[in-house]
Amino acid sequence: MEFSQYNVNALMYITPRPEIVFTEGSGMWLTDNNGKRYLDFLQGWAVNCLGHSPAVIHDALVAQSKKLLNPSPAFYNAPMIELATMLTEKSCFDRVFFTNSGAEANEGAIKLARKWGQLNKNGAFEIITFDHSFHGRTLATMSASGKPGWDTIFAPQVTGFPKADLNDIDSVKQLITDKTVAVMLEPVQGEGGVIPASPEFMQQLRALTQEHGILLIVDEVQTGMGRTGELFGYQLSGIEPDIMTLAKGIGGGVPLGALLCREAVACFVPGDQGGTYNGAPLMTAVGIAVLKEVSKPEFLASVKEKAAYLSAELLKLSEEFGLQGERGEGLLRALKLGSNIGAQIVEAARNMAPVGLLLNSPRPDLLRFMPALNVTKDELDQMLAMLREVLQQLKK
Ligand SMILES: *Cc1c(COP(=O)(O)O)cnc(C)c1O
Repeated sequence: MEFSQYNVNALMYITPRPEIVFTEGSGMWLTDNNGKRYLDFLQGWAVNCLGHSPAVIHDALVAQSKKLLNPSPAFYNAPMIELATMLTEKSCFDRVFFTNSGAEANEGAIKLARKWGQLNKNGAFEIITFDHSFHGRTLATMSASGKPGWDTIFAPQVTGFPKADLNDIDSVKQLITDKTVAVMLEPVQGEGGVIPASPEFMQQLRALTQEHGILLIVDEVQTGMGRTGELFGYQLSGIEPDIMTLAKGIGGGVPLGALLCREAVACFVPGDQGGTYNGAPLMTAVGIAVLKEVSKPEFLASVKEKAAYLSAELLKLSEEFGLQGERGEGLLRALKLGSNIGAQIVEAARNMAPVGLLLNSPRPDLLRFMPALNVTKDELDQMLAMLREVLQQLKK
């Protein structure tokens, strides 16, 4: 069907979108309404950790949809219990609450920390977050985020989120008062431009929060589920946080998130937290299928191997075209362009024919790569060849 035949104006305008409609996906590939294929290095924003429509997710959805969709969050269901058990066995956390998105998981983390502060810290409620961080699009998570301009869009903000500088422990120390209940950060700032918190900084934060008897919250919506080469990003620095949030990868493409905490922090009582779809078996059954794949030992080893390859090849490209290098953890990487040509590259790559390439530019001078974690070396090579072609065209 031609693009002009779609009634796109029936949708609210929330972001500029290219004039194509995606109709099918398989692994690293998407197909649009004209039958054109695209090599997809966005994967739904680091969501499809096993690629588009993998068989394990299809099978889990079909099997579970025949059995039970949603008995109500006021009842136990088997997939909800099984996934929570798996997550607690594979992490340093003891309790899980499932959500439908990353923002909802973070909103829950904020509520949990404030509740804990009421019970243990004289009503302390401030959560120190970081400049350029991204925690979601609810009012509280937008207020927690350090995106420039977000403090005014829907003013007044939710109060209580002073901002420190990533990888600067003194900037955190300066903000701690008797009102502080927690520090919250992404182990790698994703939307902010793929900026890793150094292992040293993570360790300093753990020591500092312990010293003050406050909580450390990691937002692993983007870094969790094998993205960094470890199952969870906090494992890169060998620390154990108090609260973690997951989404994106854990659903492999379906809406699923999770809020996890240590036993001592699990202070919600009935009435504090809930939601109609939270822990619904249709989604948690998918989470089980995804986690089983991602936690196979050879799976994470292959993520590390491909990450090292991608990193080295991006560095070569950088040298070849006089760019500013690359950074990231695992298969969440960025190429530093040195000038504001990100949007131009994204458009030129998408418009390549007969096959297009989908890339993301979270900042004007940066390209971000977030392929499926089971991307092949051939697909990495194909992306690199296409990107090289685009960079050559732009140089002319
Ligand atoms: C995407 C993202 C979120 C928000 O998740 P949604 O599912 O879009 O609500 C929160 N934190 C981080 C680090 C993210 O990357």
